Amino acid sequence: MTPARQALVDAFDGAGHELWLAGGELRDRLRGATAPASADADFATDAAPDEVERIARALGATVNAVGQRYGTTGVRLAEGWAEITTFRGESYAAGSRWPQVTFGRSIDEDLARRDFTVNALAEHTVTGELRDPFGGRADLERGILRAVGDPRARFAEDPLRVLRGVRFVSQLGFAIEADTRAAMADSADLLGTLSQERVTAELDRLLGGDHPAEGLEALRETGALPLVLPELAAMPGCAQNRFHRFDVWGHTTATVAAIAADGADGRRSFRRWAALLHDLGKPAVRHVKPNGEWGFYRHEIVGAELAAALTARLRLGAREGELLALLVRRHMDRPDPDDGRLVRRFMRRLEGRWRDLLALKRADNASHTYDDRAYHDRLEAACARAEAEEAALLRAESPLDGRELMALLERPPGPWIARVKERLSTLVLDGELAPGDKDGAAAVARRMGGARP
Ligand code: ATP
Ligand code: MG
Repeated sequence: MTPARQALVDAFDGAGHELWLAGGELRDRLRGATAPASADADFATDAAPDEVERIARALGATVNAVGQRYGTTGVRLAEGWAEITTFRGESYAAGSRWPQVTFGRSIDEDLARRDFTVNALAEHTVTGELRDPFGGRADLERGILRAVGDPRARFAEDPLRVLRGVRFVSQLGFAIEADTRAAMADSADLLGTLSQERVTAELDRLLGGDHPAEGLEALRETGALPLVLPELAAMPGCAQNRFHRFDVWGHTTATVAAIAADGADGRRSFRRWAALLHDLGKPAVRHVKPNGEWGFYRHEIVGAELAAALTARLRLGAREGELLALLVRRHMDRPDPDDGRLVRRFMRRLEGRWRDLLALKRADNASHTYDDRAYHDRLEAACARAEAEEAALLRAESPLDGRELMALLERPPGPWIARVKERLSTLVLDGELAPGDKDGAAAVARRMGGARP
């Protein structure tokens, strides 16, 4: 135990309160996870929220009180946040967005309010006593996700648990027990009562898990897919052609599973989102080709538009939404690796994200019936070489700026400047104008300036 956590434990004990470790950290330790999925530590206590806050402040800790209405106080320890929740008791208002919270008297009463048996375990922070009133350890060992108590009542009182369930399938690789699965399906209709932020957060965790194909399949099986991702609802059953082993949905989940969950910028789920959305346009554009097979011409163009709308609805963030739409738009690009000009144009269109696109193309190919690995290896080598040796070309800076162009051509500002600069930067990118060659650029600009639109 870290010194900060020990001080917290001692402070609760000294004040005569129980403090139990519960939730993801305990679950992940008991299942022997090497890399726990959980970030924050969850504790349960008999102390009321204001008492929790008082104890934490006396230790000099930073306190987050926004969740106190629901009994949770965030306490900042050296190793991360601890979420300390007063024992819960009693009921939630069925299907309501904001649960009615009342406080319970004992850890067992609290555990009875939790969602799944593997999450309804608690360890006393002083004595080490383990409470397991619902067989959570046995379910952990067998890899089973089972609702605590009456499954129908549990999902009806808080439909977020349906999404938490499929998220745990992805994170833990567990199977959902049959009654629990049936109850999740019965409550899927209630998902519309949840706020978009909570839905998006659970989908994001699902995509970041170690078993995302299983999680996505559980999302479909429980009937939650058309409710939380209606844009993807036409994928299951959308048959493809001889280049594919699966329908669009099977291909999509296989692509998600084949891509590593390690976005270049630390967002674990970024590339997984790109994989999930890459063929979004297929159901809408599917048509019969002259040879009688299904064709999907322009699906990357339609898909990029749909992806932009979807990421905005999910509020994934404006820049992230743009990049995801860009990856969808470009996932069919296939430049000749031996043509430096085409490789550089490809890299520039991707705004520096060519590694993400290559990862997507490789994952996409994993469930095709043909093997494109040799091509992807060549393209990757060509991009890496261009990045190392042709940085100045890739920057594609116009040797003349707007001010210089106006002076040179004696023209007032206007849209012509952007047109000329774009032409000059493309010439630099293509290696036809040396970076910084102002004289060469001026000659081009004069020719263009003469031909007014
Ligand atoms: P994570 O690894 O994402 O932190 P977690 O299981 O710890 O997973 P938290 O959201 O941190 O999930 O919640 C901590 C614990 O609180 C859960 O393990 C569960 O016991 C309980 N809990 C959280 N949300 C709910 C809910 N909607 N309904 C019932 N119990 C819940
Ligand atoms: Mg947690």
